[in-house]
Amino acid sequence: MNCEILAVGTELLLGNTVNTNAADLSGLLSGLGINVFWHTVVGDNPKRLAEAVAIARSRADLIITTGGLGPTYDDLTKNVLAESFGRKLELHPEEAAFLKEWFARNATSKYTDNNLQQAYLPERCTVFHNDWGTAPGCAFEEGGVHVIMLPGPPRECLPMFKACAVPYLKKLSGDVIFSRQIMVFGMGESAIESLFRTEMEHMANPTLATYAKFGEVMLRVTAKAPTEAEAEAMCEPVVEKVRAVLGDKAYAVDIPNMETLGLRLLKEQGRTFSAAESLTGGLIGERFTALSGASAVYKGGAVTYCDEVKAAMLGIDPALIAQNGAVSFATAAAMAKGVRLAARTDIGLSATGLAGPDGDGVHPVGTVFVGLADGENVWVRELHLGTGRARVRQLAANHAFDMLRRYLQGLDVVPEQYVPAGK
Ligand code: ATP
Repeated sequence: MNCEILAVGTELLLGNTVNTNAADLSGLLSGLGINVFWHTVVGDNPKRLAEAVAIARSRADLIITTGGLGPTYDDLTKNVLAESFGRKLELHPEEAAFLKEWFARNATSKYTDNNLQQAYLPERCTVFHNDWGTAPGCAFEEGGVHVIMLPGPPRECLPMFKACAVPYLKKLSGDVIFSRQIMVFGMGESAIESLFRTEMEHMANPTLATYAKFGEVMLRVTAKAPTEAEAEAMCEPVVEKVRAVLGDKAYAVDIPNMETLGLRLLKEQGRTFSAAESLTGGLIGERFTALSGASAVYKGGAVTYCDEVKAAMLGIDPALIAQNGAVSFATAAAMAKGVRLAARTDIGLSATGLAGPDGDGVHPVGTVFVGLADGENVWVRELHLGTGRARVRQLAANHAFDMLRRYLQGLDVVPEQYVPAGK
């Protein structure tokens, strides 16, 4: 099934709103094995929307619209789509009753007659009730083309897609689609793709695809079969093969990121950690505390940006910093050891480096040292992460979490590729 996502809204064309719905829906659709071949954006203009619909129906089997379902005069998606596909709009009494009740419950919003417009949907459609807002969505099929309409606000569009559109799409194919995500750190997308290119080109079911994420890569294995158990069994040998080829760089299956894996392993092993952060300025703590349950294993951290604070808060000898510099192997090691002792945790992490764009006259921008200490040892990675301040900081945090998960998985904390030549 080939899909076109048609986002409606002048604010998208003006650049006031980024079309995140298209990106997020595409990710979800690829997980269902549906190819998204086109993203189209059109303003709140009936003529141009009708033209866009005519083009979409000539080339796609599935058109998903987002936006323009609200009660205002510029919310024209339903009218144009209904007219394009030769369907009348009809009032859905249960949606009308829901709207009246919703406005009665929400004292700050006043029901006006144009709100009722939202309860009008194309005849003979499947109604997608909106539990996250007021405008319902819908789906119908006409002449072999399926149309799904979803509201614009992402907080409504995405949950509605999952709750209503996914079951609708699954019913259409009759088959169950199952996928597994293999997460990889320490190897780029093109290097990974070159390892599997020949197989990827010849695979039809299951399929294997690579997706570049920030500083890491996800490989998705997707299979279609009459039952979930069969589809899962079809994915398994491919997952095994990919993991065997990529070795310990493939850090997990169906776990979204390294911090989530770290949390799981720390809990299983009953261990705790803390972090001393310089160039990351709290990113390690921020990313980790975004996970529910983090408090069981993360005791806290210190943002120790300048030398005096590194010495005062982490108990580092100022002479060590003066001798080696703040951006150094020795300082990263001392920070990891210091925070571990100060926070009384099993493990201490650290990150110090030059995020740029200004250099320090000594190191190239992007030079970063990331450390991990336990009661006996300390490990430090020397990294050269290139340019882009935000990018360097996020990559440094990625490395801290990679060191943590490798330590907890009993692997080399500093694999060969992070040992600088000649050391
Ligand atoms: P409402 O009932 O809120 O009016 P709607 O379906 O009519 O919903 P729009 O009026 O088109 O949706 O958009 C409402 C808001 O949703 C926009 O101002 C924008 O902030 C956000 N939005 C719309 N389309 C997108 C999109 N494709 N990606 C991200 N955000 C979007």
